[in-house]
Amino acid sequence: MKDKLLFESVERELNRQRSNIELIASENFVSEEVLELAGSVLTNKYAEGYPAKRYYGGCQFVDEVEELARKRICEIYGAEHANVQPHSGAQANTAVYLALLQHGDKVLGMSLADGGHLTHGHPLNFSGINYEFYSYGVSKETETIDYEEYKKKVEEIKPKLVVAGASAYSRIIDFEFMAKVAHDNGALFMVDMAHIAGLVAAGVHPSPFPYADIVTTTTHKTLRGPRGGVIMCKKEFAADIDRAVFPGMQGGPLMHIIAAKAQCFYEVQQPEFKEYAKQIIKNAKAMEKVFKEEGFRLVAGGTDNHLLLVDVKASCGISGKKAQRLLDEINITANKNAIPFDTEKPFKASGIRIGTPAMTTKGFKEEDFEEVARIIAYRLKNEETDEIKEECLKRVAKLTEKVTMYSNIKYI
Ligand code: PLP
Repeated sequence: MKDKLLFESVERELNRQRSNIELIASENFVSEEVLELAGSVLTNKYAEGYPAKRYYGGCQFVDEVEELARKRICEIYGAEHANVQPHSGAQANTAVYLALLQHGDKVLGMSLADGGHLTHGHPLNFSGINYEFYSYGVSKETETIDYEEYKKKVEEIKPKLVVAGASAYSRIIDFEFMAKVAHDNGALFMVDMAHIAGLVAAGVHPSPFPYADIVTTTTHKTLRGPRGGVIMCKKEFAADIDRAVFPGMQGGPLMHIIAAKAQCFYEVQQPEFKEYAKQIIKNAKAMEKVFKEEGFRLVAGGTDNHLLLVDVKASCGISGKKAQRLLDEINITANKNAIPFDTEKPFKASGIRIGTPAMTTKGFKEEDFEEVARIIAYRLKNEETDEIKEECLKRVAKLTEKVTMYSNIKYI
């Protein structure tokens, strides 16, 4: 018997996903096959352990599923070993730290204020609590990673581990250089490629393989799978990583999600995925062009990947928080984001982060994204009036009405 109250909430969310322009850089729309598997009977199965080494009976079929997932992701990235069990990106990073570090060890990661992630050493996160984290960041002039400063820090601090990767960084990351510096100074080099995993898989962003000792990712961002995490590593770290995930940090793996991951990896291996990844970047470039024409200041001067950080404070004299609300009101979903050297508190922020993956999945091309950027500029640069709001809503509806994805899904 369905809980009507609950299903109606899900249906409202489905309608929001249908009618909004989704620009959250870390979100995407999964295929109906991924949805089906994530909601499959595999949710019923306990499978602590790994294929052929389980602590429960009846695992022969989920073993096949997990093997497919492991094999496919290793093929995609040329990885030596993969653990597909982490429930999320944060769990994947936790497991890596658990496998490689002792309490109090020194680690160097990208500063959250400059685009890094909470799990890269934020003082309120388990990473910052348990390990002695230091941070590198971007230069004030270019707002791109200050590689010289990074090198100096590695040489001075001599960390046991260096973490590369970011949540809000719009330029290519030089993994080769970062790995060389880390290794020359006796550190292990880990890349958290959560945001760019799909771009790397398609060859449109340089790969952290083979420079990195360990690579973590989420599966739900540009990779376009279910919410989840994966760890890939060189063979020599495989046993430690597997032990850190289970029994170190998790109990039973989410076999329905692992099945959905395997389906996602299958999709990544199809030729269409390359086209999608290329289009993500073309679309980000199309937005960059319009924002520049409209006189907006873009952090780091623009983008090489799937996201843009727009300095709305410098461009329109409003906070990121207000910009997020103004866009929400016209059915455009983005998030406020701190920019490097931000003078506002993170909850207010001076920027918004805009990503193209989700609407690229829905079929938007350059001309659509140009129109989205024009709508955003029109809304943010003008007075907050009902007329402008109504006009923007109409322009958004015109863009979304041609989208067919999820039109046949029903939840009630
Ligand atoms: N790593 C990076 C770089 C991220 O951007 C994120 C999420 O935004 C994560 C890890 C954490 O992923 P999850 O939300 O699945 O824990």
